Amino acid sequence: MNESNIPPRKIKVGIPRALYFYRYGPLWVYLLRQFQCDVVISAPTSAKIVEDGAKQAISELCVPMKLYFGHVQALLDEYPDLDYVFIPRYVSIHKNQYYCPKFLTLPETIKYGMKLSVPILTLEVNAKKHYGIEGAIEMGKTLGFSLEDSGKAWMVALKKYNQLKSKMNSSNYIDILASLDKNPNHVIKKRKFREVIPKKIRGKFPLSILILGHPYNVYESYINMHLIERLKTLDCHILTIEDTHSDQFKKPVKINKIYEQYWQSEDEILKTARYYLNEGKKEIDGVIFLISFACGPDSLIEELVMRDMKTRKIPFLTLILDEHSGESGMVTRIESLVDMIRRKKYDSISSS
Ligand code: SF4
Repeated sequence: MNESNIPPRKIKVGIPRALYFYRYGPLWVYLLRQFQCDVVISAPTSAKIVEDGAKQAISELCVPMKLYFGHVQALLDEYPDLDYVFIPRYVSIHKNQYYCPKFLTLPETIKYGMKLSVPILTLEVNAKKHYGIEGAIEMGKTLGFSLEDSGKAWMVALKKYNQLKSKMNSSNYIDILASLDKNPNHVIKKRKFREVIPKKIRGKFPLSILILGHPYNVYESYINMHLIERLKTLDCHILTIEDTHSDQFKKPVKINKIYEQYWQSEDEILKTARYYLNEGKKEIDGVIFLISFACGPDSLIEELVMRDMKTRKIPFLTLILDEHSGESGMVTRIESLVDMIRRKKYDSISSS
């Protein structure tokens, strides 16, 4: 407290609700709170955020990057008193594997692309620099914390994050991320969808669908047009990378005799696909792969996954997301896939 008993104003830091907020958002919030910051998060994606992002970013970028621009703008519009925008730099979490180059240069892309006047607070996560602790110490220095206190703050935040992560799965993922945002104006209203399956047969012909893709595509309901909710109304049980046992990620994926998967996110996708192509084959009835238009790494592995699924006769659908994706076209494709799988599965059961 100061002399007038008014608590000192906390440093206000804004986190854009985009890209790896959908994976590491809780870790960032815990860390910033350890640093005594007032943490705010941009509003859930809306038509305006998509439009603002598409206007500010260059047109060649993938839609998750365009959304990032839109979310930074949303923070600046809603919180004019922001001290920092938090923009991390994810380089690698495993030696010899890297995140997409867009993550490596994210702070600069936003700084110069948006001519940002609010300072950026960054956290570098890099396997060559002790996986984040060095980045946290740098960040702590900017916020006025000692090396020791910053190191402790990182360890506490990481422990809390790992505990939470072990409880996260595709059923609670969106709600847990939403609970990080304390702004009552940001409550995500659940959309109601028409019931496609008649009541009397609901639950009698269930299916399990694996959704592959980056978390910022799988759990970003606005841009994927509520894929998870829609599949649930079609009596489908959902599985994602977050439901896959951590043991499945230990063994490397070899594309061929000499080449191991180089991109971090695509490695996760391939390891999940490998499990469901083999031991987990009976756990799924079909696969939907969500990819972003203009995504280099996704386009490299989509073909590999599609061919493998075809060989194992697992129904497979790729949905390409961009800011112009039309809802009716998407819904028709999902409903047709589910209908086709259900007819095949239950006809073959009834005729056997
Ligand atoms: S991995 Fe693909 S979707 Fe993700 S940021 Fe890079 S280009 Fe965009």
